[in-house]
Amino acid sequence: MASSEQSQQWTILSLQNWCVEYLKEKEIDSPKLTTDLLLCHVLKCKRIDLYSQFEKMLSKEELAHFKELFKRKLEHEPIQYITNEAHFMGLRFYVDKRVLIPRPETEILVSEALTILKSKSNEEIRILDIGTGSGNIPISIAHFQKNVFVDSIDISDDALSVAQQNVDRHEVTDRVHLKKCSVMNYQNKLGSHQYDMLVSNPPYISNSEFEMLSKDVKDFEPHLALNDEGDGLTFYKAITNLSHQLLKPNGWLLFEVAYNQSEEVKSILHEAKFHNIEAVLDLERIPRVIKAQKVSL
Ligand code: GLN
Repeated sequence: MASSEQSQQWTILSLQNWCVEYLKEKEIDSPKLTTDLLLCHVLKCKRIDLYSQFEKMLSKEELAHFKELFKRKLEHEPIQYITNEAHFMGLRFYVDKRVLIPRPETEILVSEALTILKSKSNEEIRILDIGTGSGNIPISIAHFQKNVFVDSIDISDDALSVAQQNVDRHEVTDRVHLKKCSVMNYQNKLGSHQYDMLVSNPPYISNSEFEMLSKDVKDFEPHLALNDEGDGLTFYKAITNLSHQLLKPNGWLLFEVAYNQSEEVKSILHEAKFHNIEAVLDLERIPRVIKAQKVSL
């Protein structure tokens, strides 16, 4: 808002109209939704409430707060970081720039895991999640399947502290345990434990593709969570490798993969003698999750 407009009184409606036009001019995605989400955050209300009080004036403090957030959006910061909120599997997660923003594609992985687990509702299920981030995968699986216990590892202290906040928020502290640990060096931390399922949405963007990411991803989301400093397949190989020790016979391994990685990941699993290897497609019919079962003894 230009300074001549600063002294102006703003109603919800006039501010919405002004911001939508401005965001369109600046080619920011979803101008109306973005404006509304920022307004809801500042006014601590639901989106529907904006429409039932169009003529409500913003106080000076509310306007100042809104302007501060609006400026961050103009720099292309993702809305989830600005409002500290992301929705995943119908649950609300706290997020900030220390963690990857949970994506709808990852919901496919969680749904597949829950489908497999449905038939095992009478036994205690042990899962290892690799690359916790915000904790979206272990928390949502534990939320929807009460007989599940998850060890969830990440090498980032920052990510683990966000994940702990979400574990507390969703009251799964007794069933989701976070550990600082790397897949490359896990023995001391995980011991000789064997799991019924391994799940991971690892950093899978290769060095060459990283440069092609959009500004809002590349400039704001944690590099560590996106890029494997290699060909994009580093973690699939490492996790498949550790599954020999950590996964029980007949146990399941579920990976999220990039739009172009499914064939390579399937062949990594094939070489490691997994069976029932299957790709699950997203709504655009792109293979996004690979699931596979370890052979029985
Ligand atoms: N598990 C988290 C997610 O799926 C974080 C993944 C990551 O940091 N690569 O969003």
